[in-house]
Amino acid sequence: MSELRVSVVGAGLAGCEAAYQLAKRGYCVDLYEMKPEKKSPAHKSDALCELVCSNSLRSDRVENAVGLLKAEMRLLDSLVLRIADETRVPAGGALAVDREGFANRVTEEILNHPNIVLHSEEVVRLPEPPAIIATGPLTSDALAEELSRTFGEPLHFYDAAAPIVSFDSIDMTKVFRASRYGRGDDYLNCPMTRDEYFAFYRALITAETAELHLFETPRVFEGCMPVEVMAKRGELTLCYGPMKPVGLETEHNVPFAVVQLRQDDKDGRLFNIVGFQTNLKFGEQKRVFGMIPGLEHAEFVRYGVMHRNTFLPSPKLLNYDYQAKSVPGLFFAGQMTGVEGYVESASSGLIAAVGMDRYLRGLPPLDFTAKTAIGSLGHYVAEYPGDDFQPMNVTFGIMDPLKKRIRNKRERYAVLAEQALEIVKNLSQSC
Ligand SMILES: Cc1cc2nc3c(=O)[nH]c(=O)nc-3n(C[C@H](O)[C@H](O)[C@H](O)COP(=O)(O)OP(=O)(O)OC[C@H]3O[C@@H](n4cnc5c(N)ncnc54)[C@H](O)[C@@H]3O)c2cc1C
Repeated sequence: MSELRVSVVGAGLAGCEAAYQLAKRGYCVDLYEMKPEKKSPAHKSDALCELVCSNSLRSDRVENAVGLLKAEMRLLDSLVLRIADETRVPAGGALAVDREGFANRVTEEILNHPNIVLHSEEVVRLPEPPAIIATGPLTSDALAEELSRTFGEPLHFYDAAAPIVSFDSIDMTKVFRASRYGRGDDYLNCPMTRDEYFAFYRALITAETAELHLFETPRVFEGCMPVEVMAKRGELTLCYGPMKPVGLETEHNVPFAVVQLRQDDKDGRLFNIVGFQTNLKFGEQKRVFGMIPGLEHAEFVRYGVMHRNTFLPSPKLLNYDYQAKSVPGLFFAGQMTGVEGYVESASSGLIAAVGMDRYLRGLPPLDFTAKTAIGSLGHYVAEYPGDDFQPMNVTFGIMDPLKKRIRNKRERYAVLAEQALEIVKNLSQSC
């Protein structure tokens, strides 16, 4: 083991991945996590690497950018991906996990690693380098203020989580099992007639929302918009979004709209309402979502909530390996850098750890380039040109286009993916 100690702050998706990557490279890692003593409004479990909302890590196909990102991370021995694969639950073409099993297994790996020491405490000051800060979108107030002060910028926008209901409370006589386009039967589908949809829609847009006890006007992130905010954009907007019926028609039934429920735990006792992030008051969630066929008597084991989300003005502050431009040896990782999503957050933890290792060995940063999904995220957060920088999911749109023009989208993405995986495979020898 190296004599060198590295601090990692925050043991979520990014922090656990970073700690593991550093530990397996021989560094002694001091991992700081404020749970279980102190929890953000969205964190409920005492385990590390908690999934605060959906249990889905999204598509697992390489023709989809987040599927490609996963394939690249598997090549780089990602802890988060290995455990996600171990704890997966049925979800069509997506990688969804048993929420508790996933967090417990990552916790076990971290606690049992001889090079990692877990300190259960809140960090309120930026630690001395070498350090990786990965305290997430719900960074505790004291540290968020310290970051604001240090970098002279406000660091907030708003995000929302979807409710979870118990399987036993769903009226299965009204619900059918199917995945879209006949790809299996992993989802529970609540079909609505036209009349049911419009009654639901009217109730949703007039329902009472919870007050936000926060000090600035909410800016809502487009990728995680509360369902009631989306509904207010137009009476049919939901039918093209989370309630779209396409691919779920049956021989006997062509629903006007469909609400989908996705399995949330290994045993199939819990289901989340897909795309129904919300800021409605809890009583209103019970009343309005109770109008969904099959959910009339649903037991809500967790209500949807809306939260502050903290991220840095990364294009001003960070390099593509997530290292602070002005403080050598200080790296950031996870959602607070402006990557969005569980997999993206873990991937930035992996890259920050690789960057830290190279920094400590006196080597230049390793550039995965925007030809790969994992590299494109680093380049996005470090080089976004406008004033309206916002967290970003991985997409083919932030990757470098192919030199050769391929009209067919599927073919184009397949070639991009093949090229990216080749690059990552080669670079994995150097990290
Ligand atoms: C309400 C909500 C819902 C979301 N839903 C989804 C979703 O469905 N799908 C998706 O892909 N992404 C979702 N995200 C976005 C994001 O991908 C996740 O939040 C993800 O967990 C981010 O990973 P992270 O490692 O950056 O942060 P986290 O996983 O949040 O980890 C940060 C850790 O740092 C700890 N911490 C915070 N401050 C301190 C401190 N001062 N000292 C010590 N420890 C500290 C926290 O307790 C936490 O364990 C959601 C975000 C929010 C806020």
